[in-house]
Amino acid sequence: MLVPLYQEHPCFTPATARWFRCALVPVADRCNISCTYCSRRRDCLNGCRDEATLSKLLTPREALRRVQRLAADPRVQVVCVAGPAEPLAADNTFAALHQINAAFPHLLKCVATNGLLLPEKAAALAQAGVSHVAVTVNAVDERVAARLYRWVSLDGKVYQGREGARLLIARQLEGIREACRAGLRVKVNTLFFPGINTADLRKIGAAVRAAGAVRWKIVQVERAVFSAWE
Ligand code: SF4
Repeated sequence: MLVPLYQEHPCFTPATARWFRCALVPVADRCNISCTYCSRRRDCLNGCRDEATLSKLLTPREALRRVQRLAADPRVQVVCVAGPAEPLAADNTFAALHQINAAFPHLLKCVATNGLLLPEKAAALAQAGVSHVAVTVNAVDERVAARLYRWVSLDGKVYQGREGARLLIARQLEGIREACRAGLRVKVNTLFFPGINTADLRKIGAAVRAAGAVRWKIVQVERAVFSAWE
């Protein structure tokens, strides 16, 4: 589907990236998985922000005020709900999205997620005015994923090792398919860990493309992040 450039998300279309800006809204206070590379001293890496900082957690009301302030800049085209933890695991995400969408229906809304809850929440995201989703998929081989994720928590049960890895991969791909069915445009970010997921990259690209993602970005993770498991 062709989308006019002025309606496109700068992270999805490099041609617009130099003109448009994103208003980041960090409202997520919790996470539902444990990445071995996670540092709670900085925002969720799956939001793929450049800065190695920890954003101040915002309430939905504070998030709305932040967007009101930032949207005064006409280059701000997108509101992105990302960090400090996992947006789809947090209660505040949908409250913030509904308030922001009511006040700024013309701005694009994007959510960055690890994808675990995307199968159930894709339709609700679309109803809340979200048009774009960024899903982080770091592996499609469960042996690789088991080195990147300690555990996955779903419906009150914790899954560890390969079992958790298998569950997360399956739900990420199903979540991408569900998001596409709900009319969302899906971008996949893959954090590149040399020596860990190098051999999995091609398979990741093929799998997320088959699931419906329109853009795939490989993100080099800086060395400092490895300290958690080296
Ligand atoms: S999804 Fe993000 S916040 Fe959650 S454990 Fe992984 S890096 Fe940390």
